[in-house]
Amino acid sequence: MKNRNFFADWHANHGREYPWRVSGIEPFHTLITEMLLRQTRAGGVALIWPDLIKKYGSPNALIEESSEALITFLKPLGFGVQKTDSLKLASSWILAKESGKVPSIRERLLRIPHVGQYVANATLSFAFGKRIEIVDTNVLRLFSRYFGLKLKPDIRRAPEAWKIARKLLPRSKGTVRVHNYGILDFTADICKPIGPKCGICPLSRKCSFYRELTYER
Ligand code: SF4
Repeated sequence: MKNRNFFADWHANHGREYPWRVSGIEPFHTLITEMLLRQTRAGGVALIWPDLIKKYGSPNALIEESSEALITFLKPLGFGVQKTDSLKLASSWILAKESGKVPSIRERLLRIPHVGQYVANATLSFAFGKRIEIVDTNVLRLFSRYFGLKLKPDIRRAPEAWKIARKLLPRSKGTVRVHNYGILDFTADICKPIGPKCGICPLSRKCSFYRELTYER
């Protein structure tokens, strides 16, 4: 992973297209999208995304909607009352403490109920174009395999992973957003949880997991 633009290049050549990845997306839309993406597949979110933004594209719209209607709307993603509550609580907080606007400061994002390190950093990177790393469970898996590390599966308890992700960021601020998309794309398409495509992986030469695999044969 010496080439700092590896994941940005990966995104340019193999990136997945989603409606929330176009430029000019409102920070609130990015925030609620990332909150949903934490526990479900992107393809499912893509199906409901246009309606999500049309109906619930502001903190006011989300808190004014009944919980029952929101649960019904999010049901296709497998979400229930917990996710509905988290979206409503985050919206209430933004209205009460942030004058209805998603803050662009990490500490303030982390104060929003149900916004953790991944969602905060993803919002800063994707909505505000900040030079900041992202780590989710897929990124943890990639780092564990590639560097041969025994990382805890909880991103809050894997400081090493955040350090690596920080180090891998491209120098140019303008490339960080696509770099972060690229790392997510790469872990979804190549370094998958089950059946990683090591045979066609451009990182295999220096990957600890692959080396062990081929050594055992
Ligand atoms: Fe992942 Fe396999 Fe590539 Fe290593 S070689 S990074 S385990 S896909």
